[in-house]
Amino acid sequence: MTLSNPWFVAALIAVLGVFHLELASRFLNLMRLGKPIPGRLAEIFPEGTMEKIREYLADGAKVSGFQDGVSLAALIGVWWAGGFGMIQAKAETFGFGPVTTGVIVIAVIMLAQTLLSLPFSAWDTFGVEAKHGFNRTTVGTFISDNIKSLALMAIIGLPVAWVIVWFFQYQPLAPLYTWLFLAAFSVLMTFLAPRFLMPIFLKFSPMEDGELKEAIFALAKKLDFPVMEVSVVDGSRRSSKANAFFAGFGKTRRIALFDTLLQSHTKEEIVAILAHEIGHNKCRHVPVTMTLSLVEMGVMLALLGWVLKSPDFFAAFGLQGTPVGMGLVLFGILYQPLGIVTGLLGLWMSRRHEFQADAYAAKAVGSAQPLVQGLKRLSHDHLSHPQPHPLKVWLHYSHPPIGERLAALEAVRV
Ligand SMILES: [Zn+2]
Repeated sequence: MTLSNPWFVAALIAVLGVFHLELASRFLNLMRLGKPIPGRLAEIFPEGTMEKIREYLADGAKVSGFQDGVSLAALIGVWWAGGFGMIQAKAETFGFGPVTTGVIVIAVIMLAQTLLSLPFSAWDTFGVEAKHGFNRTTVGTFISDNIKSLALMAIIGLPVAWVIVWFFQYQPLAPLYTWLFLAAFSVLMTFLAPRFLMPIFLKFSPMEDGELKEAIFALAKKLDFPVMEVSVVDGSRRSSKANAFFAGFGKTRRIALFDTLLQSHTKEEIVAILAHEIGHNKCRHVPVTMTLSLVEMGVMLALLGWVLKSPDFFAAFGLQGTPVGMGLVLFGILYQPLGIVTGLLGLWMSRRHEFQADAYAAKAVGSAQPLVQGLKRLSHDHLSHPQPHPLKVWLHYSHPPIGERLAALEAVRV
């Protein structure tokens, strides 16, 4: 583990670089809260609201800053103390073959990461979100949510990890096989998740008959978007923040709306927000996004196949030999900066898709006004940053900042 090992230097630069980039983006973003509010946004962000936003965002940045710092310290500490070698040696004493040993290593490290993030998640939910009036999660729900996620990770994640480790242990064409396997797996999950996974966490109930339901079916019919069912989801059990989403494919398509959206928005706004969601579907955004992520996955797996063959890579983390399971975990550290670069592309595309879906919605309902009103209300109610810093937007925003969306909507000719 010396500076003469290029893998060691690359991994150290990756870890420290990503940490400081996030730190800088968080700081610059908070600084932008002092920027004068342009006329278009003045109505949504009066001074009283700005004060709340400043406090809310500063509190949130404190939690993520502490979390990043503790994670970095833990990683450097384990690395420095030769912890990766110790975990590997301990896992080997159970006497299983290399594949099962690799899965044990992955499980132990993932569990440690999850446990380390729990206090921050609790601080965010019961400290920050509660202080600013968003949290509705009880301690019981928080605990059961975490137990359920851990159980799902074990039931679904461990077998997947086992297959991947097996490929890389025994197959020369492992990157290709893993790519095909993960592509098939993600297609399968898009079908299974809405039906079997989401109901584990959320309760879906059919929407009551009435004006809103009629308006939704009328819109779907007008836009030639067959819908089987409209459900309401009990988002209010966790947060007062509103949301909407679609689930299902083809003939079994169903629309699911958060109950919080129904409580805080007018019928016209809800219909416009749904038209936006239908726009994503009509503009084929899902297959485009999926293709991009498959290309990214291909690049990542090719790199992984190359890295796992290098004993120097393992030596950089104090390991002897080339244990595959541990290699998968350590590759994640090295891949972070590249992941950010491919993430930039994905997020940029996602923001473009949002503009397209907004334009579609304005044309679909015959006016940009209801969507403008709906977006203004969401930004105001969620205490969103009125003018986030470009660095923050590039790194994290899947949706364009509110000002850009409103400006684009004003320019749409209906
Ligand atoms: Zn959207």
